Amino acid sequence: MSLNDLTQGAIAQMVQTADPSSSVQNPVCQILSIKKIQASAASASSMGDRYRIILSDGVKYAQAMLASQKRSMVESGELEKHCLVRISQYASNSVQGRRILILLDLSVVHPPTADRIGSPTNVDDSIKPEGGVKQEGGAGGALGNSNVGNNSAGRTTPATSAAGMPIYPIEGLSPYQNRWTIKARVTSKSDIRHWSNQRGEGKLFSVNLLDDSGEIKATGFNDAVDRFYSMLQENHVYLISKARVNIAKKQFSNLQNEYEITFENSTEIEECTDATDVPEVKYEFVRINELESVEPNQTCDVIGVLDSYGELSEIVSKASQRPVQKRELTLVDQGQRSVRLTLWGKNAENFPNHAGVDEKPVIAFKGVKVGDFGGRSLSMFSSSTMLINPDITESHVLRGWFDNDGAHAQFQPFTNGGGAGGAMGGGAANMAERRTIAQVKDQNLGMTEKPDYFNVRATVVYIKQENLYYTACPSDGCNKKVTPDHEGNWRCEKCDRSYEQPEYRYILSTNVADATGQIWLSGFNDDATKLMGMSAGELHKLREESESEFTAVLHRAANRMYTFNCRAKMDSFNDQARVRYTISRAAPVDFAKAGAELVDAINAYM
Ligand SMILES: [Zn+2]
Repeated sequence: MSLNDLTQGAIAQMVQTADPSSSVQNPVCQILSIKKIQASAASASSMGDRYRIILSDGVKYAQAMLASQKRSMVESGELEKHCLVRISQYASNSVQGRRILILLDLSVVHPPTADRIGSPTNVDDSIKPEGGVKQEGGAGGALGNSNVGNNSAGRTTPATSAAGMPIYPIEGLSPYQNRWTIKARVTSKSDIRHWSNQRGEGKLFSVNLLDDSGEIKATGFNDAVDRFYSMLQENHVYLISKARVNIAKKQFSNLQNEYEITFENSTEIEECTDATDVPEVKYEFVRINELESVEPNQTCDVIGVLDSYGELSEIVSKASQRPVQKRELTLVDQGQRSVRLTLWGKNAENFPNHAGVDEKPVIAFKGVKVGDFGGRSLSMFSSSTMLINPDITESHVLRGWFDNDGAHAQFQPFTNGGGAGGAMGGGAANMAERRTIAQVKDQNLGMTEKPDYFNVRATVVYIKQENLYYTACPSDGCNKKVTPDHEGNWRCEKCDRSYEQPEYRYILSTNVADATGQIWLSGFNDDATKLMGMSAGELHKLREESESEFTAVLHRAANRMYTFNCRAKMDSFNDQARVRYTISRAAPVDFAKAGAELVDAINAYM
């Protein structure tokens, strides 16, 4: 093997040419390395592992990604380090300012050689950053079948008709090339959302799109809603072209893609009847009786028979102050348990219009949120999908089971500490959602008749010294305040007797703060003991010995961070109504876990 077996100069051209049809055709290159990259958790189930390849033409080498439909070439051992490949289809993509080749189709033309051929150097070093469709004039000379000579302006001249445009993998899209068509399946579609602010008002909707290479979100505003909303249907496949590729706003998306699509006036969308090469939505179903092993706030896929569904109701979301429509479904499966699932918005409203909903249909859900309200419950996200009586094996199994046995079975609902359904006003809500202190106040938690529950991560700033603890009845389970009687003993009115010694119990009042504000919380004996690091009895004894030791304990208890589970409830005190926040549980912050949560939160802005 020698340099002449490789298409020298091909890499520089491939990397810099936005339209592969005008670049070098079927170049032969050598593979210098193959490296597996861990699929992100979100895409692992649908995409699997990916492979990064260093590709050399003997002169230059470049980073490339193997399209996921070709990963079996690596897994079967066909594609190896130092083998020679002919690349018949590829795309050149800019990722964070670097050019990366996506290898869409290739074949091995020679088994691995002893070593690398030539002394290739990094192609990145010879490329001017961005605006990157300019070609290196010199490189083309060595290439027999290149089209470089046709591009007098040094630019590629891509096909202009929509039909003639190359189909790009979703992963190949970037803001630096605007001539593309993708062929993708709609995996989810949002409701139409309306907004109004000082700058005006409008409407929008979005869809998530899937192909072999990955997923991307696409959004249409105003006119695009009228043109495309009813046309784009979940699970159908479309050819989409002439839309803008933007940097993704990840705080509004559950996808990992760096980019997203915005439909424009020029955008063309056409439904595609040949859909066999576009992957179907893949499910990883969790059985209803296994939901307890899924952490709250995670998403999962669930399939079950619809046992019943509730009436449409409307609530005003405390978080957004807007009315929201909701409807609850009850799902069952072979595990003999039932679970409630909340639909929102248009999904909730239109639910009874679906065919077959009254005949105990099987419904498959993708990406629903798990809540711990009532033990376990489920809730749709805007990105969640729902298919009624899908033509998949699991669905047929459930149908057979239900029609034979299931219809006569008794199902056990999830319940623990749930109380009445919907008391949280939010279906698959968590018993206590995490809030900031400002949110607790802005959302008027605890200002209505029903108590509200929340979590807050905050630092103890101050603990009130007076009335930190009281003298309590020592008899089992009483806890009433006792007062000294005329014989120097401690009298409990409730138990109607006196004791030599009282028990001391905390009624702690502590000021806690986070980055958004400060708030007073009250804590009772168990949690206060944890906060103070000693029982009220021990603290009382310490105080009798030394006031300064006592205040030192109070100082030591401050400047510590906890996750507080709280209840907010209206309280009347001297005829004045006020909200009282009571600690039901305080746990020291698990910094590793909290750090991982912050990483997720920060990534949504990057
Ligand atoms: Zn008592």
